[in-house]
Amino acid sequence: MRRTATIGAALMLFLGALTGCATGGSETESVHVVVTTTILGDIVRNVVGDGADVEVLMPVGVDPHEFQASSQQVAAIQHADLVVANGLGLEEGLSDVLEAAAADGVVVWEVGPDIDPRLFAEAPDAGEGEGRYDPHFWLDPIRDADAVRLLAVHLADVAPDHDWASPAEAYATELESLNDDIVSILSVVPEGDRKLVTNHRAFGYFSDRYDFEMIGTVIPGGATLANPSSAELASLVSVIEEEGVPAIFTETVEPDTLARAVADEVGSDVKVVELYTGSLGEPGSDGATLTAMLETNARRIAGALAP
Ligand SMILES: [Zn+2]
Repeated sequence: MRRTATIGAALMLFLGALTGCATGGSETESVHVVVTTTILGDIVRNVVGDGADVEVLMPVGVDPHEFQASSQQVAAIQHADLVVANGLGLEEGLSDVLEAAAADGVVVWEVGPDIDPRLFAEAPDAGEGEGRYDPHFWLDPIRDADAVRLLAVHLADVAPDHDWASPAEAYATELESLNDDIVSILSVVPEGDRKLVTNHRAFGYFSDRYDFEMIGTVIPGGATLANPSSAELASLVSVIEEEGVPAIFTETVEPDTLARAVADEVGSDVKVVELYTGSLGEPGSDGATLTAMLETNARRIAGALAP
């Protein structure tokens, strides 16, 4: 019985291989989408389901500002039907590769420029180049919903015979209802206490959406690549003391050593609370999907700042 089944399976594989040979390139091939960040990877997977192969370049837990592609990944980008990238300078280590692929005719869609990006407040005169716009749009679920609907349009451009719009609409609606949930989770934080001190300047879109103010960061600039001077750290300690901020928010993709040192310097008790920023959490964690990480961040911020 078992042997017959095995032979049957082997025969089917053999026939399948024959069929593959016979039809060659004329068979409808599946759409191959390459995505840069784990967050965009989750967005793409929610929209395409079984309708496309999805390859996410960055592993979970890696800082997108610092990621470099392997040579196999560069080849995957060059052979993709569609590349989905964050843009706005987030993937600094990939920008040359993405630019070269686009020049070779690969369809590269950078999401950030299309979802009404916000300017970095401290860089109004930084010109048109990278660094003028804030790349961290995914921490705003309303912009994520916009990105989801636009993704369906870009998928339809490369593969018009599939219904991308219906799953996109369902997922976008879920993100919009998550936004309502987050408003309600954060409602326990009084207006005067909506002040964020974070590891790096990732919470601009979050702050705009939920009426928070970013009053300081451990790492200066718009990315995670700079190192603070001791004067900058000392001035952050003063800001925290003057404003009476009860927490410093760190992130899963970066060490929290400097944030802890700052917290130790502050006269009063300051909690160090970790948030999901540039990457999803590990599978099974409370940040394993985009919706889970956004809700977890809101709960942790509410828990740390509510009186
Ligand atoms: Zn960042």
